[in-house]
Amino acid sequence: MTGPDPDVVDRGSLNCREFVEIVTDYIEDDLPRAARADFDHHLDVCVGCTNYLDQVRATIALSRTAVLRGTDGDALTQSAREALFEAFRRSRNA
Ligand SMILES: [Zn+2]
Repeated sequence: MTGPDPDVVDRGSLNCREFVEIVTDYIEDDLPRAARADFDHHLDVCVGCTNYLDQVRATIALSRTAVLRGTDGDALTQSAREALFEAFRRSRNA
């Protein structure tokens, strides 16, 4: 365990693009511990991605509803991914 490190805060070990790429893994609890720590850190310093995470969770909830209806075997379909990126773009331009 390490404490907060101001140098790490300044550098930002994870950028917004990387955040978007791994956000679903984070929600599914598939991230290695180190990557999860980077992700949590990014949430602390980036309001935009914090909002984005909320949107992704909502979108995945909708996607799961579709799966339960038997629409698709994947938890996250290609169209759902595209919707996520579109939501991200909107959140950044708001
Ligand atoms: Zn960010």
